[in-house]
Amino acid sequence: MCVTNHLLQNFWLLEEFSLSTFDFTPPQTSIDTASLRRRIRQFLTSAMEDISPRERAYSWTGYNANFSEKMGKDGWIGMQWPELYGGRNASPLERYVVIEELLAAGAPVGAHWIADRQSGTHLLRYASDRIKSEYMPKIAAGELFFCIGMSEPNAGSDLAAIHTHARKVDEGWIINGSKLWTTHAVRSHMMIALVRTDRSEQRHNGLSQFVIDLSLPGITINGITDQTGEVHFGEVFFEEVLVANDCLLGTEGQGWQQVNAELALERSGPERYLSSYRLIEEFIDTQTDCSDDLNTDAIGEWIAELWTLRQMSLSMAAQIAEGKEPALEAAIVKDLGATFEQSLPHSVAALMSDDGQHTPPSALSEVLDYLLLASPSFSLRGGTREILRGIIARGLGLR
Ligand SMILES: Cc1cc2nc3c(=O)[nH]c(=O)nc-3n(C[C@H](O)[C@H](O)[C@H](O)COP(=O)(O)OP(=O)(O)OC[C@H]3O[C@@H](n4cnc5c(N)ncnc54)[C@H](O)[C@@H]3O)c2cc1C
Repeated sequence: MCVTNHLLQNFWLLEEFSLSTFDFTPPQTSIDTASLRRRIRQFLTSAMEDISPRERAYSWTGYNANFSEKMGKDGWIGMQWPELYGGRNASPLERYVVIEELLAAGAPVGAHWIADRQSGTHLLRYASDRIKSEYMPKIAAGELFFCIGMSEPNAGSDLAAIHTHARKVDEGWIINGSKLWTTHAVRSHMMIALVRTDRSEQRHNGLSQFVIDLSLPGITINGITDQTGEVHFGEVFFEEVLVANDCLLGTEGQGWQQVNAELALERSGPERYLSSYRLIEEFIDTQTDCSDDLNTDAIGEWIAELWTLRQMSLSMAAQIAEGKEPALEAAIVKDLGATFEQSLPHSVAALMSDDGQHTPPSALSEVLDYLLLASPSFSLRGGTREILRGIIARGLGLR
């Protein structure tokens, strides 16, 4: 076995050092992350038997409702939430460990990912007791899937330009407008949408968030095929859609502040640097000759970079656990992470073409072909590179 292979296998086990740098937990609680890691690995070994290399390459966007149900049954979704709402009061560190393992294995977590990462947590914070009791246990069971309704035609980077609006009526709110580029729109049950509730206000005011059942009358959803051939996202139209009063999340007019808190959850996690991780695993599996300096050096560089990104991402998780909203830091992690994730497929392609002697094994080719087509989107989804750098510049004091 090559030394690089050995290194990678132990990469995640170096956490003794890394995780102790950040104090996530009350001092009296000690968390056995090694045994947690063993348990999630055991679950993945049996639950992923029939998952192909291509499906593993989708990483956290791979939609597989059966797999989500298995995860729900085994208690891996909504881990951090109170038991009352289907969770098990796990710490942010425990969730981080589980997420890392899921991503490293290429588990198809896309169906429940958004609900687990942000929608459920958002509901916990801003929803009525009825909404929390009705939806959160179903999310935790891996049965109810959410999507994010922020972007619209002509309102992506400039999110405050959204036109979708809600007007107050006696029975609740009537919503009209449309959302675009909504991940898994065609397969989700619910959306948390940012809409305008007061058109007379300045653009960052007068915005509110609603939780919307996508099966309601007046909603039309069309899938959009992306350049990988997948129907990853879609467009959603709302025509006179009536939602109940308690579907308003948080406070009317506070949507901009709420959405920014949600974006911090969306931008800082390990998925922002591990989207191409399967490629490293597949590449290492093909390495039989440790004397190939070019390949060994490349693997060493990737691992060094992963390690640094992981430290940064962990510090975000610690801040979020303390109740902070580290928007600037999250933008930095996402920007650096996306740059790494995007460069990896090109580095592997270059190494494979240098080695023109034999045809690459099919698993590696499948993962590589997919990531070469998918990776340009990594610096668009969740906020473009230029927008993130604007946030960073302002955070560093640019006037
Ligand atoms: C795979 C994928 C999944 C997505 N999933 C979702 C989802 O689930 N829900 C959702 O709401 N949205 C989703 N999006 C949409 C995503 O958030 C938007 O694509 C993104 O915010 C950019 O908006 P836009 O596409 O309108 O591009 P634009 O905002 O029109 O930007 C076009 C280009 O101009 C640059 N630009 C724009 N403004 C500035 C500026 N002020 N300074 C410098 N450069 C600028 C941008 O960086 C970009 O390069 C998804 C996108 C992708 C690719």
